[in-house]
Amino acid sequence: MKAGVLFAPRDIRYVEVSTPVPAAGELLIKTACAGICSSDLPRAMDERGAYHYPLVMGHEVSGIIESIGSGVQGRKVGERVTVFPLIPCGKCKFCQEGRVNLCSDYGYIGSRKDGGFAEYFTCPSQNALNLPDSVGLDSGAMAEPAAVALHGARRAGIKKGDKVVVLGAGTIGLFAMQWAKYFGANATLIDRNSDKLEIGKKLGADKIIQTQKDKPLEESLANMVRTFDIVLECTGSDEAQCAGITLLVRGGTLVFLGNPHTDLVVQKSLLSTVIRGELALLGSWNSTIEADWREVVSAMAEARIDCASLITRREKLSNISEVFKSMASRSFPNIKVLFELE
Ligand SMILES: [Zn+2]
Ligand SMILES: [Zn+2]
Repeated sequence: MKAGVLFAPRDIRYVEVSTPVPAAGELLIKTACAGICSSDLPRAMDERGAYHYPLVMGHEVSGIIESIGSGVQGRKVGERVTVFPLIPCGKCKFCQEGRVNLCSDYGYIGSRKDGGFAEYFTCPSQNALNLPDSVGLDSGAMAEPAAVALHGARRAGIKKGDKVVVLGAGTIGLFAMQWAKYFGANATLIDRNSDKLEIGKKLGADKIIQTQKDKPLEESLANMVRTFDIVLECTGSDEAQCAGITLLVRGGTLVFLGNPHTDLVVQKSLLSTVIRGELALLGSWNSTIEADWREVVSAMAEARIDCASLITRREKLSNISEVFKSMASRSFPNIKVLFELE
C-alpha cells in the first residue's frame, strides 16, 4: 500500500510499504479521510517530535472495514466507521472507572502506533464506531476534534442559559462553540482572524469579537471583564489564559483545552481574583469513546453539529510532503486540512 511515512523530523515521504495485517481482535480499515491535527505539525517537524521513527501519523480518521481479525464478533466488511485513536490499557484505575482518557499506559493510533495517513491501518474492533448513513466520511474524520471539544464543554458543566466565551476559533474552538450552543448556552467567540470568525457566525455563534494583533488581549477585552459564566480556552497562549480568568464572573469556570505555547506567569492580583471569586480552573484532555464519541456521532447524524464547514482544504495523500511544508511555513491559513483517499 501507499503511505505518508515520517522517517525523521521534517522528512515525510509518500512511499510503498507493506499493508498491515489485523491481529486478533483488530480490524483492517481502508482509510477514506484523515485530518491533520495541529499536534501533527510539531510531531512531524520538531526534533524528537514523534515517539519513534518511522511513523505513519493520522489520528482523525474515517474509513471502511476491509478485513476482520480473529475473534472479532458483530462486525461486517464494508461498514463505514470513524476510529477512536486512544487504545486504553483496560487495567488501570482510570480505565476501570471509564476515564480512559486518563489511562497511564495507553496506545495511540497515529502517534504511538501507525495511523491513517496511509491507504490502510489497523485498530482494535471496539475503537471503530459505525457511522450512520447520513454522516459523510469527511465528517466522520472530524469526530476526534469534535469529541475533544465536547469533553471540554462537559468538564465546564455548561447549562442552558449560561454565558460562555470561547477563546480561539480553530477546529477545537469552533466545535467548542457549537457544543456550547448544543447545551443551550449563549456563545461568544473571540479570535484575531476574521475568516475563522465568519465561519463561527455561520455555525451559530451569538456574538463574534475580533481582537487586534498589535494590542494586548487584556486591553481588547477590558469591557468584558466579569461577564461570562464559562471560558473555554482553546488557543494555548499565555495571554489568552490570563485574559480568560478576567472574563469570568464570581464562581465561574475556565477550562484549558489549548496545548500551552509557553510558561504561564500569573500576577498576584489575578491569583487573588481566582481565590476571592472561587473560580474553577480545569484541564481537559482528549475524550472517551463511551461518553463523548457516541454523542458526537448521534449529534452529527441529527445535523446538530456541523463538521463540513470546518474543512477548509482537501488534499490528496500523495501531496503529504508539500502539505506539511506549507502548513509549517503558515503559507496558507486553514481550519481543517483533510486528506481524501477515495
Ligand atoms: Zn487531534
Ligand atoms: Zn488504563
